[in-house]
Amino acid sequence: MDIVIASRNKKKITELEALIAKYIDGAKLLSLDDVGLYEDIVENGTTFEENALIKARYASASGKISVGDDSGLCVNALGGAPGIYSARYAGEHGNDEANNAKLLSDLSDKLDKSAYFVSTIACVLPDGREFVVEGRANGEITANASGNGGFGYDPIFYSTELGKTFADLSADEKNAVSHRGKAVENFAKKLLELIEQEEQK
Ligand code: IMP
Repeated sequence: MDIVIASRNKKKITELEALIAKYIDGAKLLSLDDVGLYEDIVENGTTFEENALIKARYASASGKISVGDDSGLCVNALGGAPGIYSARYAGEHGNDEANNAKLLSDLSDKLDKSAYFVSTIACVLPDGREFVVEGRANGEITANASGNGGFGYDPIFYSTELGKTFADLSADEKNAVSHRGKAVENFAKKLLELIEQEEQK
């Protein structure tokens, strides 16, 4: 089964690849470049769901099962920020160090350090059917950054359940508890259910 993923974040694609393989035997992941879709996607939605759908719909020009994902960190004491702006919280897109520093500074005078990661996955099937699923992971923002694994906010996202930051987890450990792991599980189950329904017609 070919699945086109509308993302250009290599680390994220690698995480998604490993996760989808757990649920769908023989799933082959293709990037936008693999299917000849080279335009930049304008991610101008106001929610994770809208952005995930914008990406999935763009990828669906491939005529294959198409997936778009949007994810980010929501901090309760900051009213859900950085949210959909997680990748560019400090201004420059993808500057993890600056994003983490800004977040710690914005949170320094707040008592509530609770936060959650969200991963939203939208899917467009070749026949036009669409669905959206989500996964969440809860934790706290810590000023004691730790670990070299993962990416983004992982070094300062502390899982109280595991007693470690996400950057201190192995890829397998992270996948087992992460927002993306949960979202992919929901995505795979829903996709297989819809394909089965179609086959029974
Ligand atoms: P996206 O690529 O538009 O989904 O942006 C996601 C942004 O949210 C990333 O650049 C990170 O800053 C943050 N983020 C999402 N998932 C994770 C994660 O698993 N660990 C750390 N940061 C994440």
